[in-house]
Amino acid sequence: DPKDNIQNTKELLENHLKATGGKVVTRFPPEPNGYLHIGHAKAMFLDFGYAKKNGGTCYLRFDDTNPEKENQEYIDSIKDSVRWLGHEPTKITYSSDYFDQLYDLALELIRRGLAYVCFQPPAEIKSCREKMIDSPWRNTPVEENLKLFEDMRKGKFKEGEVTLRMKGDMKHANPCMRDMIAYRIKYHHHPMTGDKWCIYPSYDYSHCLVDSIENITHSLCTLEFEVRRLTYNWLVDVLGLYRPVVWEFARLNLTHILLSKRKIITMVQTGIVDGWDDPRLSTLNAFRRKGYTPESIQMLCETVGVTKANSTSIPYELLEHCLRTDLNEKATRAMVVLDPIKVIITNYAEGADEEITVPNIPGHPEKGTHKVDLSRVIYIERSDFRMEDSKDYYGLAPKKSVLLKYAYNVHCDEVIFDKAGQIQEIHVTMDRANTAKCKTIHWVSSKADKKPQMIEVRLYEHLFTDEEVGDNWVESVNPNSKKVVYAFADKTLEGSKEYDRFQFERTGYFCCDKDSTASKLVFNRTVSLKENKER
Ligand code: ATP
Ligand code: MG
Ligand code: MG
Repeated sequence: DPKDNIQNTKELLENHLKATGGKVVTRFPPEPNGYLHIGHAKAMFLDFGYAKKNGGTCYLRFDDTNPEKENQEYIDSIKDSVRWLGHEPTKITYSSDYFDQLYDLALELIRRGLAYVCFQPPAEIKSCREKMIDSPWRNTPVEENLKLFEDMRKGKFKEGEVTLRMKGDMKHANPCMRDMIAYRIKYHHHPMTGDKWCIYPSYDYSHCLVDSIENITHSLCTLEFEVRRLTYNWLVDVLGLYRPVVWEFARLNLTHILLSKRKIITMVQTGIVDGWDDPRLSTLNAFRRKGYTPESIQMLCETVGVTKANSTSIPYELLEHCLRTDLNEKATRAMVVLDPIKVIITNYAEGADEEITVPNIPGHPEKGTHKVDLSRVIYIERSDFRMEDSKDYYGLAPKKSVLLKYAYNVHCDEVIFDKAGQIQEIHVTMDRANTAKCKTIHWVSSKADKKPQMIEVRLYEHLFTDEEVGDNWVESVNPNSKKVVYAFADKTLEGSKEYDRFQFERTGYFCCDKDSTASKLVFNRTVSLKENKER
């Protein structure tokens, strides 16, 4: 009866709140076996968010029970990503902090006849679970189990040769209850405990016990763990320990990306992408490098909410929408021409260069202004010029006028071609008095003594062409996911540093990349201005 359940939960919670002095205590428990991805942002949003909302406490707990996959580099980067998103753990803990306690509890289980040392190889365990047949080692006497477990700890067995199993119920309808593994042997240096241990606790054994030891009131986890809630409760109950309340929530998934540390590792190792922070990846480092703000990712999590239903993938466009909303009032405007053609303003005297004052953020005078140069030679976007005008075309064409954004109207008088028949330059006249409304284009000026700054711009598309990226993800890799162009930029970008964000007028939002040098700035396209095929 669901009512009983709620009652039970309420009682549990009241007891727990007593133990924590009335405080909500949660934890975010990543395994340090890779970099955090945007899915983890949802888990953090719930773990840290729920604690904060209730004046509680949230730990960052490294669930470090598989030393062969874990290392300090991952630990450091996870700490960094948690802080970048704006979360402040009350304390940083490690499952390995409790290895001694967990070991003592295992002895306790054995003494009570609730755990046994099992020599079945993994395949045999699997098939016996399927057939609901007891392990031949299930009824070894307690004294012998204690000695065998001690031998396990002392390193007297080989890896994979033996495990410690909990006496669940081999006939239970839920296969997760069929004699869960508590400890396995791993001869591997551990980032925190070094070579102290060669037995390591399993998820089923350690997660609930560490939650209990840390007095977690609300243990939030993703839905795939729902089937294991039974073993969670079983273990804390048989040991008579404090039992946290477990709440499951749906994993976050977005279209066009993969959220799995294991698959991300494969992409990095096979060179599909250039490292953990390649802006095409779904790691938080990648989103940060690409220019995403923590606020936009938080906004997505808020929008997606706490649905329990395993929702289908969230459209990537929703994340982009959150991002544009956030950047619109944050990113200083600059004018950058990605594919330039040269324009001569024939009635503009050589050397009569002037400075034009432009708003940092239009509509926000309090955000200040900056200056750009205007001179006789300018560059405009190739796509903003056409030989044939048409009604729906907003750019420049012969005998047509456009407004140079923040400056004046220009009228196209003549187009000069080179020998190959390509446009070499366009001649226009400037009409400062004419304020007649016409379409606006962006531009960059080239002074006689100072060419515009050339920057490298990296244009990204989805890494996967499939909307729902499935098991055949390798075939869905987009060969055109990264394009590099060289562009002319106004002087606003001078002196940019890593992570500085701009809106390139009429083009999109861009972010200064760590590959920038004193002589060449590199920018990543964070997102285009409008929703279209281009990201
Ligand atoms: P992966 O399969 O990518 O390695 P994981 O679940 O093994 O993910 P953990 O490091 O164990 O990764 O995750 C830490 C926490 O983040 C867990 O509570 C986990 O349930 C949660 N989490 C992981 N992926 C997602 C996701 N896509 N959406 C929401 N929460 C997630
Ligand atoms: Mg995990
Ligand atoms: Mg995993």
